Amino acid sequence: MSKVFKFGGASIKNPKAIYNLKEIVSSYKENIVIIVSAIDKTTNKLEHVWEVYVENKIDKAHEIAKEIIKFHESVVVDLKLNNNPKFLNLFNALSLELVEYIGSKTKQENNLSYSKIVSFGELWSTAIISYYLNQQGLENQWIDAREVVKTSNKHIDSKINWEETQRKINVDLRKDKTYVTQGFIGSNLDGETTTLGREGSDFSAAIFGWCMDAEEVVIWKDVDGLLNADPKRFNNTEILKNISFKEAIELSYLGASVIHPNTIKPLENKNISLSIRSFIQLDNPGSLINKVGRNDKDMPSLIYKPNQILLTISTKDYSFIFEEHMSKLFSIFFKMGLKVHLMQNSALSCSVCGIILPSNLDLLISDLQKKYIVKYNTKVNLLTIRHFKTLDIPELFKSQEVLIQQRSRSTLRYVLKKK
Ligand code: ASP
Ligand code: MG
Repeated sequence: MSKVFKFGGASIKNPKAIYNLKEIVSSYKENIVIIVSAIDKTTNKLEHVWEVYVENKIDKAHEIAKEIIKFHESVVVDLKLNNNPKFLNLFNALSLELVEYIGSKTKQENNLSYSKIVSFGELWSTAIISYYLNQQGLENQWIDAREVVKTSNKHIDSKINWEETQRKINVDLRKDKTYVTQGFIGSNLDGETTTLGREGSDFSAAIFGWCMDAEEVVIWKDVDGLLNADPKRFNNTEILKNISFKEAIELSYLGASVIHPNTIKPLENKNISLSIRSFIQLDNPGSLINKVGRNDKDMPSLIYKPNQILLTISTKDYSFIFEEHMSKLFSIFFKMGLKVHLMQNSALSCSVCGIILPSNLDLLISDLQKKYIVKYNTKVNLLTIRHFKTLDIPELFKSQEVLIQQRSRSTLRYVLKKK
């Protein structure tokens, strides 16, 4: 049986961190499928390249791309990979491919070019890590995830074609070998690059785990485990030592940022346990997500999602917002890539709070305005308290205006706006 490990951007952010990854992997005797995301904030930087590219500022796009390449080259030198010809072949071919893609006369459709451009972050990082591990005596094979992770045609937030992915993985990967491959990326049946949504590498780990019937999946993070709140925002956070798959799905759906929301389902379906462990404090057991979930209701979890948009949509003729409108609205949301995190209806209006790519916001509004009256706020904040113990809004948020409040038996939610 194999294990799947996922290392995120922070865990490989510099040569020292990559050395630490090697130490972790070599402390296990099992064969491991190592899923890696892009180094540090590379995906954000590549998104910037893409934004500039879409605006047709090709020189600027080249300039930023070359800075990113330069940064990766410095990592290559630090890890002494710069005299490995096989590695350089792969690495330089990737860099050249990006530069040529940006400069190409024939431009591809925006979602396609998005996935193509951002995929280089993972392709570089995995090439570096795979060859570095081999150089350090940790034998492994680099896999281009696009060869095996097969998805729908939608290029961003693609859906997995489970059957085809499982078939490919079982043909290409053996259980008695160690592999290094990319999180986040895949390809459609035409071979075009697709992506699984930001932070999608966790999901990639679950995909490989599911397809290979792995014994366990471990996500290595810069936090001690799954916390009941984001430590960058809240004091006195605590570790959720053991929660159930169900609770983890609820928490990640609500926006707990530690794991990608799609990660749990495949693992639950095959009862593959998921650990979230610190790559810094290796003695810490971290959090275990499995069937049992001993600590599900022990303490309140706070989830704060800033920078959402709040849309309020009403009919132009004062008619009710009923099911038919709702289904139309949601098909527009789906088409424009609006992710809805909370909704609330009244007789005449429907409000939704969620996120959308900034470049799609104007399109969404103008599409909705053809049939509806639309009001919207940007920069609203969504606060969720799961397993709340009191009905009071936490001190930290008292200064914000409450635009919406919702409560169920287990969960309290607020849409807030800074005054
Ligand atoms: N590199 C991608 C991102 O930053 C995927 C991931 O990190 O999981 O969103
Ligand atoms: Mg990342």
